[in-house]
Amino acid sequence: MRTERFAPSPTGPLHLGHAFSALTAWDRTQAASGRFLLRFEDIDRSRARPEWETAILDDLRWLGLDWPTPVLRQSTRLPAYRAALETLRDRGLLFACTCTRRDIAQAATAPQEGDPPVGPDGVIYPGTCRANRLCPGAPLPANAALRLDMRAATRSCGALAFAETGPATAMDRVHVAADTLINGVGDVVLARRDLGTSYHLSVVVDDAHQGVTHVTRGADLFAATQIHVLLQHLLSVPTPSYHHHRLIRDADGRRLAKRDDARALAKYRAEGTTTAALRRLLGLGAARPSRT
Ligand code: GLU
Ligand code: ZN
Repeated sequence: MRTERFAPSPTGPLHLGHAFSALTAWDRTQAASGRFLLRFEDIDRSRARPEWETAILDDLRWLGLDWPTPVLRQSTRLPAYRAALETLRDRGLLFACTCTRRDIAQAATAPQEGDPPVGPDGVIYPGTCRANRLCPGAPLPANAALRLDMRAATRSCGALAFAETGPATAMDRVHVAADTLINGVGDVVLARRDLGTSYHLSVVVDDAHQGVTHVTRGADLFAATQIHVLLQHLLSVPTPSYHHHRLIRDADGRRLAKRDDARALAKYRAEGTTTAALRRLLGLGAARPSRT
Protein backbone atom coordinates (compact mmCIF):
# COMPACT_ATOMS: atom_id res chain seq x y z
CA MET A 1 0.00 0.00 0.00
CA ARG A 2 1.18 3.50 -0.74
CA THR A 3 2.70 4.78 2.49
CA GLU A 4 3.97 8.27 3.21
CA ARG A 5 5.23 9.87 6.38
CA PHE A 6 5.59 13.33 7.80
CA ALA A 7 8.66 13.37 10.00
CA PRO A 8 9.14 16.58 11.96
CA SER A 9 11.76 17.13 14.64
CA PRO A 10 10.06 18.30 17.85
CA THR A 11 12.61 21.07 18.29
CA GLY A 12 10.48 24.07 17.35
CA PRO A 13 7.15 25.16 15.92
CA LEU A 14 5.80 23.95 12.59
CA HIS A 15 5.78 26.70 10.00
CA LEU A 16 4.27 27.12 6.56
CA GLY A 17 6.91 24.96 4.91
CA HIS A 18 6.09 22.04 7.21
CA ALA A 19 2.38 22.51 6.52
CA PHE A 20 3.06 22.37 2.79
CA SER A 21 5.03 19.11 3.15
CA ALA A 22 2.49 17.51 5.45
CA LEU A 23 -0.55 18.54 3.38
CA THR A 24 1.08 17.49 0.10
CA ALA A 25 1.91 14.07 1.52
CA TRP A 26 -1.57 13.82 3.03
CA ASP A 27 -3.36 14.75 -0.19
CA ARG A 28 -1.28 12.27 -2.16
CA THR A 29 -2.03 9.40 0.22
CA GLN A 30 -5.74 10.26 0.36
CA ALA A 31 -5.91 10.26 -3.43
CA ALA A 32 -4.27 6.83 -3.52
CA SER A 33 -6.18 5.36 -0.54
CA GLY A 34 -2.80 4.99 1.13
CA ARG A 35 -1.41 5.34 4.64
CA PHE A 36 -0.19 8.59 6.15
CA LEU A 37 2.20 8.17 9.09
CA LEU A 38 3.65 10.60 11.56
CA ARG A 39 7.15 10.11 12.95
CA PHE A 40 9.00 12.21 15.49
CA GLU A 41 12.64 12.68 14.59
CA ASP A 42 13.89 13.24 18.11
CA ILE A 43 17.36 11.68 18.05
CA ASP A 44 18.84 14.89 19.40
CA ARG A 45 17.57 14.61 22.97
CA SER A 46 19.21 17.89 23.93
CA ARG A 47 16.94 19.79 21.53
CA ALA A 48 13.70 17.74 21.42
CA ARG A 49 10.97 18.86 23.83
CA PRO A 50 7.64 17.21 24.75
CA GLU A 51 5.97 20.65 24.50
CA TRP A 52 6.92 20.81 20.83
CA GLU A 53 5.48 17.35 20.23
CA THR A 54 2.19 18.49 21.74
CA ALA A 55 2.20 21.67 19.68
CA ILE A 56 2.96 19.72 16.48
CA LEU A 57 0.11 17.27 17.15
CA ASP A 58 -2.27 20.20 17.70
CA ASP A 59 -1.16 21.90 14.48
CA LEU A 60 -1.52 18.73 12.41
CA ARG A 61 -5.00 18.01 13.78
CA TRP A 62 -5.94 21.58 13.00
CA LEU A 63 -4.80 20.97 9.42
CA GLY A 64 -7.30 18.10 9.30
CA LEU A 65 -4.81 15.24 9.28
CA ASP A 66 -4.88 11.99 11.21
CA TRP A 67 -2.47 9.08 11.54
CA PRO A 68 -2.15 5.71 13.24
CA THR A 69 -0.89 5.66 16.82
CA PRO A 70 1.43 5.12 18.56
CA VAL A 71 3.62 7.55 16.67
CA LEU A 72 7.14 6.22 16.07
CA ARG A 73 9.80 8.13 17.99
CA GLN A 74 13.34 7.81 16.70
CA SER A 75 14.65 8.02 20.26
CA THR A 76 13.28 4.48 20.78
CA ARG A 77 15.05 3.09 17.75
CA LEU A 78 18.73 3.20 18.75
CA PRO A 79 19.15 -0.62 18.63
CA ALA A 80 17.97 -0.63 14.99
CA TYR A 81 20.40 2.16 14.07
CA ARG A 82 23.20 0.27 15.79
CA ALA A 83 22.37 -2.89 13.82
CA ALA A 84 22.56 -0.89 10.58
CA LEU A 85 25.94 0.53 11.61
CA GLU A 86 27.15 -3.00 12.31
CA THR A 87 26.09 -4.09 8.83
CA LEU A 88 28.06 -1.24 7.28
CA ARG A 89 31.02 -1.91 9.57
CA ASP A 90 31.07 -5.57 8.51
CA ARG A 91 31.17 -4.45 4.89
CA GLY A 92 34.32 -2.44 5.73
CA LEU A 93 32.66 0.90 5.02
CA LEU A 94 32.93 2.73 8.37
CA PHE A 95 35.79 4.54 10.02
CA ALA A 96 36.10 6.22 13.40
CA CYS A 97 36.72 9.97 13.34
CA THR A 98 37.81 12.10 16.27
CA CYS A 99 38.29 15.35 14.37
CA THR A 100 36.75 18.51 15.75
CA ARG A 101 34.95 20.93 13.44
CA ARG A 102 38.01 23.12 13.63
CA ASP A 103 40.37 20.27 12.67
CA ILE A 104 38.20 19.63 9.62
CA ALA A 105 38.04 23.26 8.56
CA GLN A 106 41.82 23.59 8.88
CA ALA A 107 42.63 20.35 7.07
CA ALA A 108 40.13 21.13 4.30
CA THR A 109 41.48 24.59 3.57
CA ALA A 110 44.41 24.39 1.22
CA PRO A 111 46.71 27.43 1.60
CA GLN A 112 45.71 30.30 -0.74
CA GLU A 113 42.72 28.42 -2.10
CA GLY A 114 40.01 30.24 -0.21
CA ASP A 115 36.97 28.57 1.30
CA PRO A 116 36.94 24.78 1.50
CA PRO A 117 34.26 22.93 -0.52
CA VAL A 118 30.93 22.49 1.25
CA GLY A 119 28.39 19.66 0.89
CA PRO A 120 24.93 19.09 2.36
CA ASP A 121 26.41 18.50 5.83
CA GLY A 122 28.96 21.31 5.80
CA VAL A 123 32.65 21.31 4.89
CA ILE A 124 33.54 18.20 2.91
CA TYR A 125 35.59 15.92 5.12
CA PRO A 126 39.26 15.97 4.08
CA GLY A 127 39.82 12.28 4.93
CA THR A 128 42.11 12.72 7.93
CA CYS A 129 40.91 9.61 9.85
CA ARG A 130 39.99 7.43 6.85
CA ALA A 131 42.67 4.89 7.80
CA ASN A 132 40.85 4.13 11.08
CA ARG A 133 38.56 1.66 9.34
CA LEU A 134 36.52 -0.55 11.65
CA CYS A 135 37.17 -4.26 11.16
CA PRO A 136 34.25 -6.69 10.86
CA GLY A 137 32.95 -7.47 14.35
CA ALA A 138 34.97 -4.70 16.01
CA PRO A 139 33.12 -2.85 18.80
CA LEU A 140 31.58 0.44 17.71
CA PRO A 141 33.64 3.11 19.48
CA ALA A 142 31.58 5.33 21.79
CA ASN A 143 33.96 8.27 21.82
CA ALA A 144 34.26 8.87 18.10
CA ALA A 145 32.00 9.77 15.21
CA LEU A 146 31.49 7.05 12.60
CA ARG A 147 31.88 8.15 9.00
CA LEU A 148 31.06 6.35 5.77
CA ASP A 149 34.06 5.84 3.51
CA MET A 150 32.36 7.30 0.43
CA ARG A 151 34.89 6.02 -2.10
CA ALA A 152 34.59 2.46 -0.80
CA ALA A 153 30.80 2.77 -0.53
CA THR A 154 30.27 3.94 -4.11
CA ARG A 155 32.67 1.26 -5.38
CA SER A 156 30.67 -1.44 -3.61
CA CYS A 157 27.34 -0.69 -5.30
CA GLY A 158 26.22 -0.38 -8.89
CA ALA A 159 24.37 2.51 -10.51
CA LEU A 160 22.10 4.44 -8.18
CA ALA A 161 18.84 6.11 -9.18
CA PHE A 162 15.48 7.10 -7.77
CA ALA A 163 12.06 8.05 -9.09
CA GLU A 164 11.24 11.74 -8.74
CA THR A 165 7.88 13.44 -9.28
CA GLY A 166 8.60 16.87 -7.82
CA PRO A 167 9.44 20.10 -9.63
CA ALA A 168 13.07 20.00 -8.43
CA THR A 169 14.12 18.46 -11.71
CA ALA A 170 12.64 17.96 -15.15
CA MET A 171 13.57 14.27 -14.99
CA ASP A 172 11.37 11.56 -13.62
CA ARG A 173 14.35 9.39 -12.80
CA VAL A 174 17.37 10.88 -11.05
CA HIS A 175 20.73 9.18 -11.43
CA VAL A 176 23.06 9.54 -8.49
CA ALA A 177 26.64 9.77 -9.72
CA ALA A 178 29.50 8.33 -7.68
CA ASP A 179 31.49 11.49 -8.47
CA THR A 180 28.82 13.70 -6.93
CA LEU A 181 28.77 11.58 -3.80
CA ILE A 182 32.57 11.51 -3.49
CA ASN A 183 33.31 15.13 -4.35
CA GLY A 184 30.06 16.87 -3.47
CA VAL A 185 29.16 15.00 -0.28
CA GLY A 186 32.23 13.13 0.98
CA ASP A 187 32.60 10.85 4.00
CA VAL A 188 29.35 11.67 5.80
CA VAL A 189 28.90 11.14 9.51
CA LEU A 190 26.48 8.23 10.10
CA ALA A 191 26.81 8.20 13.88
CA ARG A 192 27.50 11.37 15.76
CA ARG A 193 29.70 10.97 18.79
CA ASP A 194 26.98 12.34 21.09
CA LEU A 195 23.95 10.63 19.46
CA GLY A 196 25.12 7.23 18.26
CA THR A 197 23.25 7.87 15.00
CA SER A 198 22.56 10.65 12.51
CA TYR A 199 19.70 12.14 10.54
CA HIS A 200 20.70 10.26 7.36
CA LEU A 201 21.00 6.82 8.95
CA SER A 202 17.86 7.13 11.08
CA VAL A 203 15.66 8.29 8.20
CA VAL A 204 16.76 5.43 5.96
CA VAL A 205 16.38 2.76 8.65
CA ASP A 206 12.96 4.03 9.69
CA ASP A 207 11.54 4.60 6.22
CA ALA A 208 12.37 0.95 5.53
CA HIS A 209 11.01 -0.20 8.90
CA GLN A 210 7.72 1.62 8.36
CA GLY A 211 7.30 0.46 4.78
CA VAL A 212 7.41 4.00 3.38
CA THR A 213 6.90 3.86 -0.39
CA HIS A 214 6.76 7.61 -1.17
CA VAL A 215 8.65 10.49 0.45
CA THR A 216 7.49 14.10 0.13
CA ARG A 217 10.06 16.65 1.29
CA GLY A 218 11.37 20.11 0.45
CA ALA A 219 13.80 20.70 -2.41
CA ASP A 220 16.36 21.70 0.24
CA LEU A 221 16.74 17.99 1.05
CA PHE A 222 17.49 16.98 -2.55
CA ALA A 223 21.21 16.52 -1.85
CA ALA A 224 20.43 14.50 1.28
CA THR A 225 18.21 12.17 -0.76
CA GLN A 226 21.24 11.06 -2.79
CA ILE A 227 22.91 9.96 0.45
CA HIS A 228 19.73 8.14 1.48
CA VAL A 229 19.52 6.26 -1.84
CA LEU A 230 23.12 5.12 -1.40
CA LEU A 231 22.43 3.93 2.16
CA GLN A 232 19.33 2.07 0.99
CA HIS A 233 21.50 0.14 -1.46
CA LEU A 234 24.18 -0.56 1.13
CA LEU A 235 21.59 -1.78 3.65
CA SER A 236 19.60 -3.76 1.03
CA VAL A 237 16.30 -1.96 1.63
CA PRO A 238 13.95 -0.60 -1.05
CA THR A 239 14.28 2.95 -2.39
CA PRO A 240 11.00 4.89 -2.10
CA SER A 241 9.80 7.31 -4.79
CA TYR A 242 10.58 10.93 -4.00
CA HIS A 243 8.72 14.17 -4.49
CA HIS A 244 10.87 17.23 -3.73
CA HIS A 245 8.53 20.19 -3.53
CA ARG A 246 9.22 23.88 -3.99
CA LEU A 247 10.28 25.79 -0.90
CA ILE A 248 7.79 28.06 0.79
CA ARG A 249 9.22 31.55 1.11
CA ASP A 250 8.08 34.47 3.19
CA ALA A 251 6.55 37.65 1.72
CA ASP A 252 10.04 39.03 1.00
CA GLY A 253 11.08 35.90 -0.87
CA ARG A 254 13.38 34.70 1.90
CA ARG A 255 13.53 31.06 2.79
CA LEU A 256 11.76 30.27 6.04
CA ALA A 257 14.27 29.22 8.64
CA LYS A 258 13.37 26.52 11.10
CA ARG A 259 13.68 29.01 13.93
CA ASP A 260 11.64 31.67 12.21
CA ASP A 261 8.56 31.85 14.41
CA ALA A 262 7.03 34.60 12.28
CA ARG A 263 5.36 32.06 10.04
CA ALA A 264 4.55 29.49 12.73
CA LEU A 265 1.25 27.74 12.04
CA ALA A 266 0.19 28.52 15.60
CA LYS A 267 0.27 32.17 14.67
CA TYR A 268 -2.15 31.67 11.77
CA ARG A 269 -4.42 29.66 14.04
CA ALA A 270 -4.34 32.37 16.69
CA GLU A 271 -5.21 34.97 14.05
CA GLY A 272 -8.29 32.95 13.09
CA THR A 273 -7.06 31.76 9.69
CA THR A 274 -9.10 28.77 8.50
CA THR A 275 -7.47 25.62 7.21
CA ALA A 276 -9.13 26.26 3.86
CA ALA A 277 -7.57 29.73 3.70
CA LEU A 278 -4.19 28.34 4.65
CA ARG A 279 -4.45 25.77 1.85
CA ARG A 280 -5.19 28.58 -0.61
CA LEU A 281 -2.25 30.58 0.70
CA LEU A 282 0.00 27.59 0.01
CA GLY A 283 -1.44 27.10 -3.46
CA LEU A 284 -3.07 23.79 -2.55
CA GLY A 285 -6.56 22.75 -3.60
CA ALA A 286 -9.42 22.08 -1.22
CA ALA A 287 -9.15 19.10 1.09
CA ARG A 288 -10.76 15.88 -0.09
CA PRO A 289 -13.48 14.65 2.17
CA SER A 290 -12.10 12.19 4.68
CA ARG A 291 -12.53 8.52 3.88
CA THR A 292 -13.75 7.61 7.37
N1 GLU B 1 13.08 15.64 10.35
C1 GLU B 1 13.49 16.27 9.14
C2 GLU B 1 12.91 17.68 9.04
O1 GLU B 1 12.05 18.02 9.82
C3 GLU B 1 13.22 15.40 7.98
C4 GLU B 1 12.32 15.13 7.02
C5 GLU B 1 12.71 14.13 5.92
O2 GLU B 1 13.66 13.38 6.03
O3 GLU B 1 11.98 14.09 4.93
O4 GLU B 1 13.36 18.47 8.26
ZN1 ZN C 1 38.62 12.65 11.57
